[in-house]
Amino acid sequence: MRIVLLGAPGSGKGTQAVRLVEQLELPHISTGELLRSAVEAGTELGQKAKTVIDRGELVSDDIMLGLITQRLSRDDAKKGFILDGYPRNITQAKALDEILERQGQAMVEVLHIDVDAELLLQRIAGRAAEEGRSDDAEEVVRKRLRIYAEQTAPVVEYYTAKGVLSRVLGEGSVEEVFQRIMSVLLMHTES
Ligand code: AMP
Repeated sequence: MRIVLLGAPGSGKGTQAVRLVEQLELPHISTGELLRSAVEAGTELGQKAKTVIDRGELVSDDIMLGLITQRLSRDDAKKGFILDGYPRNITQAKALDEILERQGQAMVEVLHIDVDAELLLQRIAGRAAEEGRSDDAEEVVRKRLRIYAEQTAPVVEYYTAKGVLSRVLGEGSVEEVFQRIMSVLLMHTES
């Protein structure tokens, strides 16, 4: 199964991805995590990405294409994956289509974890206090949410038009959201 998780910052997609990985035994591919590892390792890519991430902006499509192509070509991704954080705009969505077509595995299941804007801000404020992520400062968060609305929300429409997207209400406990996701997946594997 090839699952793409879409959701605004604070929607809980990272948390749900971890639960799904345990349940489905698929690799978790988080572009945010890949970038943060590159920053920590101090690679050239990491150094380029750091300023952009800290500003709450999107890393260039070229850099992301290289990163995701490389990650998806690894053996463990052949049986499927949980993709978290990619695609973030229409260019990336089309690039992903092309990569998967080339690999002969074009079908994806897209889950949109939908959370009210006010709740997103509250959740991120909580995460900032707990994890101290440098891009969780309030001003940066507002920018990330704006970029999500401008660039990533059209990706929700893109996959809706393709008929591969399911909306999952992201409010309530982690367990409640997880159960909603699992029932969508179960419905689709049965049909
Ligand atoms: P995330 O952990 O998915 O919220 O990602 C953290 C940050 O990494 C984002 O705010 C972006 O700066 C960068 N990033 C992650 N994924 C992408 C992507 N697909 N395209 C561009 N930038 C990304």
